[in-house]
Amino acid sequence: ENTTVVIVGSGVAGLTLGNFLLRSGIDCVVLERRSREYVEQRQRAGVIDSRAARMFREWGLADRVIGGVPFEPVLNFRIDGETRPFKYVTDDLGDGRFCPQQVLVRNLIDVFVSDGGDLRFEAEDVAPEDITGPRPRVRYRDSSGVTRTITCDFIAGCDGDHGVCRASIPEEELTRHSHEYGYAWLTVLAEAPANHQSMMAIHDRGFAGQFARGPQASRFYLQCPLDTAVEEWTDDRIWGEIDARFGEPIAVKGRISSKTLVPLRSVVHDPMSYGHLYLLGDAAHIVPPMSAKGMNLALHDADVFAAAVRQQVKEQDTSLLEAYSATCLKHVWNYQAFAAWFTDLMHDAGDVFYHGEFRRRLARTEFERLYDSETANRLFGEFLTGLN
Ligand code: FAD
Repeated sequence: ENTTVVIVGSGVAGLTLGNFLLRSGIDCVVLERRSREYVEQRQRAGVIDSRAARMFREWGLADRVIGGVPFEPVLNFRIDGETRPFKYVTDDLGDGRFCPQQVLVRNLIDVFVSDGGDLRFEAEDVAPEDITGPRPRVRYRDSSGVTRTITCDFIAGCDGDHGVCRASIPEEELTRHSHEYGYAWLTVLAEAPANHQSMMAIHDRGFAGQFARGPQASRFYLQCPLDTAVEEWTDDRIWGEIDARFGEPIAVKGRISSKTLVPLRSVVHDPMSYGHLYLLGDAAHIVPPMSAKGMNLALHDADVFAAAVRQQVKEQDTSLLEAYSATCLKHVWNYQAFAAWFTDLMHDAGDVFYHGEFRRRLARTEFERLYDSETANRLFGEFLTGLN
């Protein structure tokens, strides 16, 4: 079997790339380890920034794939129990959206499949082979247990942080840059309607966040130590901690449907390609969730890679492909810098345990500057909208 691009992984990066290639008339096959049901229900990110929304519009897909509600240019901070709405200045009120990741994924799958895309679920033991040779291959076992091999021009590794693609690159060819923030988030999904799109609390018990996930549910985040265990967090303890950090009781404390611990870290792998294998999204980089940029960076990579492949296939011009890693890394580091700054700011400003009073005062000063300086406000807005 032959194709132009084998895409490993059908998360946001892989599916977006697949759709962009399909619209460009370029053959591709998407291989996904999980079932369609599993992928369509996996809940994660919730923010599509203005840059990403504009990208879907430019590829002619915005109406078909983007769901959710428009993003209001207001963040609600709660500082020591007092609400401080923050309105950011932006020239592009554009199209940013609160769109749950699984809604985007579901729409991307629907569009890809109904437009004739080749998407194979439950592909086991996916293995990229001969990635530096002239015709790389991807071997896998299909859902009926038959081993298959697809020969291709390019392999797109869109299989996340624990995938096989990055692992198939010799270790000495990649540099891993990483930073641990020293704490985790307990992320909780609950049937609790939010009367705002977002609320972020700075408090000396630690950071807390609430983000609307549709009209009836919210995703809550609670800063906690790295060595805590999910079992230590009973529902009562969670609600008590949320009330304390927000400084007022949450009106509806509905059923909690999931609790997960996420250590906050930043990771960048450099370069983002090796031979004919290109890494996209979480396979290449992780940003702390405070920034809401993980999904948006994955979408950016898909945009850059699809345009590069199109140029190579249609015009035999390899320049964009050769620049792929450098182009993406420049963007990734820009948003890593933003993500690290915002993560430190929001946690240090409430911190009495981790970094101490000096860092706390610096963070509070930077926080006030967002309100006092239009320049600071504008820069923050540029990062939130993804237009920096
Ligand atoms: P993924 O969405 O992870 O997709 C990778 C795909 O590859 C998956 O479908 C996987 O099943 C498949 N795969 C893996 N291994 C193989 C294999 N060997 N063979 C075939 N297929 C394989 N970002 C935000 O912006 N805001 C948030 O609030 C937020 N919360 C998050 C919460 C959690 C618990 C996690 C894990 C991430 C969160 N993120 C958030 C990050 C965001 O979800 C990711 O950055 C985004 O999903 C990256 O997309 P991706 O396509 O690169 O990877």
